[in-house]
Amino acid sequence: MKSFRVGLGYDLHQLVDQKINQFPFKLGGITIPFDKSCIAHSDGDVLIHALCDALLGAAALEDIGTHFPDSEKKWHKVNSEELAQKVVQLIHQEGWQINNIDATIILEEPKLAPYKELIKNNIAQIAQIPPHLVSIKAKTNEKMDSIGKGLAVAAHVVVLLISNR
Ligand SMILES: [Zn+2]
Repeated sequence: MKSFRVGLGYDLHQLVDQKINQFPFKLGGITIPFDKSCIAHSDGDVLIHALCDALLGAAALEDIGTHFPDSEKKWHKVNSEELAQKVVQLIHQEGWQINNIDATIILEEPKLAPYKELIKNNIAQIAQIPPHLVSIKAKTNEKMDSIGKGLAVAAHVVVLLISNR
């Protein structure tokens, strides 16, 4: 018998001038040339954070903040890919495989078209699934609200887990 679990993840970070932040702008583990970057305890990778929450949510294993608390120094300025790798390991230990990943990134700038393929391939590698099972979509917020004014970036991720148990 096969079991399926769906999971939803969401994350948002504030964008500031990179001169203040002194940290690169990263999405899905890929560094993207941009004059702003995210304020965060980690590297502020909203796509990876939303992916972690989607995976943990699908397996009913709490959330990213529970596993990697802001309050613990070892997670400060951590490469978020490391967190995602740990989450994927945890999912596998629980007997789940990732069936597919569908993500939407919302930001006003920069245009992500040149980076979508790189992001997709990197997410596929982290998730240990073929790239055709990963979907990366990007859109703007039509100049509305904080995202539309370029003050923030957000990501939504849905995953499906599958198990033979
Ligand atoms: Zn985050």
